[in-house]
Amino acid sequence: MEYYSLGQNSPKVDFKTAALRGQAPDKGLYFPVDLAPLDKRIWAAFPHLSKAELAFEVMQPFVGDCIPAAVLQDILAETLDFSIPLVSLSPRLSVLELFHGPTLAFKDVGARFMSRCLGYFSRGQSAQTTILVATSGDTGGAVAQGFLGVLGIEVVILFPKGKVSPVQEWQLTACGQNVRSLAIEGSFDDCQAMVKKAFADADLQKKLRLSSANSINVARWLPQQLYYFLALQAWQKAGHEKPPVVSVPSGNFGNLCAGILAQKRGLPVQHFIAACNENDVVSRYLAGADYIPQNAKVTLSNAMDVGDPSNWVRILELLGKERESVGQCISSEKVSDAATQAAIAQVFQQFGYVMDPHGAVAFVALSHYLNDHPGTEGFFLETAHPIKFPATVEAAIGQGLDLPGSVADLLKRPKQMETMAPQFEALKAYLISGS
Ligand SMILES: *Cc1c(COP(=O)(O)O)cnc(C)c1O
Repeated sequence: MEYYSLGQNSPKVDFKTAALRGQAPDKGLYFPVDLAPLDKRIWAAFPHLSKAELAFEVMQPFVGDCIPAAVLQDILAETLDFSIPLVSLSPRLSVLELFHGPTLAFKDVGARFMSRCLGYFSRGQSAQTTILVATSGDTGGAVAQGFLGVLGIEVVILFPKGKVSPVQEWQLTACGQNVRSLAIEGSFDDCQAMVKKAFADADLQKKLRLSSANSINVARWLPQQLYYFLALQAWQKAGHEKPPVVSVPSGNFGNLCAGILAQKRGLPVQHFIAACNENDVVSRYLAGADYIPQNAKVTLSNAMDVGDPSNWVRILELLGKERESVGQCISSEKVSDAATQAAIAQVFQQFGYVMDPHGAVAFVALSHYLNDHPGTEGFFLETAHPIKFPATVEAAIGQGLDLPGSVADLLKRPKQMETMAPQFEALKAYLISGS
């Protein structure tokens, strides 16, 4: 598979180059040239394919001959080394739990796949690769875990100071080893802008081998298709005959974009919902307003506090650039913090099920859609474990949450971070002095 740049001004590259670079030289995002549906043979066998077989069929075309089949199989087995259950709350409403990985959020799938691919590509290389990652909360922890102790790779995490949850902050700052973290005195968008500038800086590129682990990197973005495929298997096994409406809590829109890609490749999905918090540039666009990126606003679902979602350009590439064609595939709803909190309380009372604030945003948007569209059924993605947001969740359900063992261990470790102004020059000096 080759990848072209959405900037339209860089040569096509293979998977390895796209994954190592993160971003194309013209600053565009890489995009696969071929979105061919999966072979009929695979769809015929779909209900009976094992997790490993399905994962291999989904991902192999994107990797091409950059990774031998046996290595790719091992990478995928490690990537999916935890359960991804589809839990039914009512006949029309289910939830796909994506938080059973090591850092308790869905980012583990993409981060594990990417780290193992880059680990494979950097084998036998003497030069160190620096992975630069901006995080709104969960990416950094997942990437740090994925790369922890991997030789030849150093990870530098930028997060908005004071704007991530306590468990998230621990995951970002208590790794040690080859992982360093920077608390940026600004928003996630500031962090993302600093990282983008670093990639565009010729001087830095000369001095360091930089790569990105944000969902602009194809190695992080593409494997997110996997859980949509796995979910559909579970959906059909549970006896659903209609394709589902799928509600995705969205920030940078990488996850939703992976779902749409899966649909393009033949996965039966009725409709997608881009569930947003107050950061609603997409909701407003689909409702008829101009597409105007904004400064990120702070909300209870902090991993979605993104005012200028970087994967939106990929969604337009997939769906066509007209508002109408986009609107046929996805609807969007903005969900307030108050509605988020009320939903956590309501679902706990009604079903005894505890949602985190991100899943709750997706739940609200899906419930409204199902109400407005009789005969439809669907699931929402629960993207993080509630323990990552104890203050919000415990206040809503009126009781404490049990601490999983992995979190209790984490909270015993020392946090290490440096504070930095939201200025690229500061980051540049830091990177050069640390190399
Ligand atoms: C990152 C994240 C999101 C948003 O995903 P995008 O791919 O950036 O749209 C939603 N929920 C949680 C818990 C996250 O960590």
